[in-house]
Amino acid sequence: LLDRHQRLPHRLVQILRELQAHQGWLSREDLSLVAHALHLPLAQVQGVAEFYHFFHTRPVGQYRVLFSDNITDRLLGSEALLHDLCHRLKVEPGQLRADGRVSVTTTSCTGLCDQGPAALINHHQIITKLTPGRIEHLAALIEQQVPPAQWPTEWSRVDDQIRLADVKLGAQPAPGKGIAAAIARGPQGMLDDIKRSKLRGRGGAGYATGTKWQLCRNARGDTHYVICNADEGEPGTFKDRVLLSSYADTVFEGMTIAAWVVGSRQGLMYLRGEYRYLLEPLQAVLQSRREQGLLGKAIQGQEGFDFDIDIHVGAGAYVCGEESALIESLEGKRGTPRIRPPFPVEQGYLGQPTVVNNVETFCAATHIAVNGGAWWVRIGTPQSTGTKIHSVSGDCERPGIYEYPFGTRIGRILEDCGAHNTQAVQVGGPSGVCLSALEFGRRIGFEDVPTAGAFMVFNRSRDLFEVARNFAQFFAHESCGFCTPCRVGTELVVRRLDKLKKGYGSSEDVQVLYELDKLMHGATHCGLGAAACNPLRDTIAKFRPAYERHLTSLHFAPGFDLDAELSQARLATGRDDTGAHLENIA
Ligand code: SF4
Repeated sequence: LLDRHQRLPHRLVQILRELQAHQGWLSREDLSLVAHALHLPLAQVQGVAEFYHFFHTRPVGQYRVLFSDNITDRLLGSEALLHDLCHRLKVEPGQLRADGRVSVTTTSCTGLCDQGPAALINHHQIITKLTPGRIEHLAALIEQQVPPAQWPTEWSRVDDQIRLADVKLGAQPAPGKGIAAAIARGPQGMLDDIKRSKLRGRGGAGYATGTKWQLCRNARGDTHYVICNADEGEPGTFKDRVLLSSYADTVFEGMTIAAWVVGSRQGLMYLRGEYRYLLEPLQAVLQSRREQGLLGKAIQGQEGFDFDIDIHVGAGAYVCGEESALIESLEGKRGTPRIRPPFPVEQGYLGQPTVVNNVETFCAATHIAVNGGAWWVRIGTPQSTGTKIHSVSGDCERPGIYEYPFGTRIGRILEDCGAHNTQAVQVGGPSGVCLSALEFGRRIGFEDVPTAGAFMVFNRSRDLFEVARNFAQFFAHESCGFCTPCRVGTELVVRRLDKLKKGYGSSEDVQVLYELDKLMHGATHCGLGAAACNPLRDTIAKFRPAYERHLTSLHFAPGFDLDAELSQARLATGRDDTGAHLENIA
């Protein structure tokens, strides 16, 4: 294993992942061995192993069952199913059973919200559409120690569920057509066309792709890298899963076109750990492209155009969707976001100029190479050109994948997916925006409602306080812990919401939530912390009765008398003057 990775320290995450797949967990002896072989301090290797949710430094059992804990899975009954399984297996949630065979717990979101409730087994096998019947059968298979590979195959079936296709999900260009068009234009000509298209990144930030490629192309370095961010971790987003499952050729072609423009010889795809089951199919597509001369040396006979792609599998850390954290992870480190500048286009992977784009962006680049920037710019709106793919889930008749030109009304999407009696839509996942029925006339686009792709529908029977609480738990779970406002702030938010849920809250707690939002928005190191209170802010402002139902008092009522509690201290110190009472302390 170590030799296959050439004992390179920046392969550490991959080495640990493969080692764990073999051993079941990462013992201290294993970590020491790896540290020694890579000439790294043990503390560093241990720090990496403890950072990622999918690495285990304690035994987790022969069967590790992770229920997807996204709100849409909860709406479909995932919590009751988890408890049913735990009851049948006689194991406490989150604990390892005494015989060391099985553990059952939750993970943030498996990217299967359109066919949940879903679970991940041993980090590489999925089960979709869980029912009480499947849970009963699953418990029996685990008790009989049947290997997951022998479980019913239909359990792991994942459908694309493409409900509406436009240019990106419609007919695909033949492999190599986009590359041929790019070669014909030359690197600068291709870059000019990407700029003409006004393509903006589909991962959420919406940065101009042409500008990013230009900056990387102009940056000085020994080598340049192209990275595909396939770490689709925002709960409620699963459109990249479909692009990677059925449109991988178009995605890899887009990476190759980017390599042609920026002068890169090496590409990397960062595949989220939850999509581990896609690794072999993706590698097969890469191999086929090599055999067709679309990867490797002298691509399409173009002397000097050498480029290949390697796939790196993540290990369960939402923060690695942030491009600098993703690069840290690719370098075998903890996924802590970097201080910027310098930006990755100047100093990215291994300190070299690096382009990082989302799966959907590379897909769009291929279509632009084939059809031209002028064609692309005619789709969508002047500020938001082209189409956007949406992952629709929640309370609707037809969850799945929908592709629309930018500028499409929220209400149109709700009509198409069969949503009725809709109370709210969460667009862009927990870090996005929660829209009330008054806003269903708004339009998808960078100028109005930007989105990375999640579209979660909640009807009027849903408690939006519970939705916000699920999102708060998600951010607390996924905070990387690097900066205090986020590490502590996200926990404080969860505690306040739990207090409200238990019926101990007052309007003072709602005010504190506002203050925490303000604090975190301005003081955190990266976007995760800054966005962590977005769902709270929106739901408190637009759905306040959902919170007021949980309030016992509209006025602040302290849980205890602090001044009275200090009486023992006053007694001990012999002081009981006015200055020793709280009300007199300025
Ligand atoms: Fe980590 Fe949160 Fe700070 Fe981002 S804001 S660096 S996720 S602790």
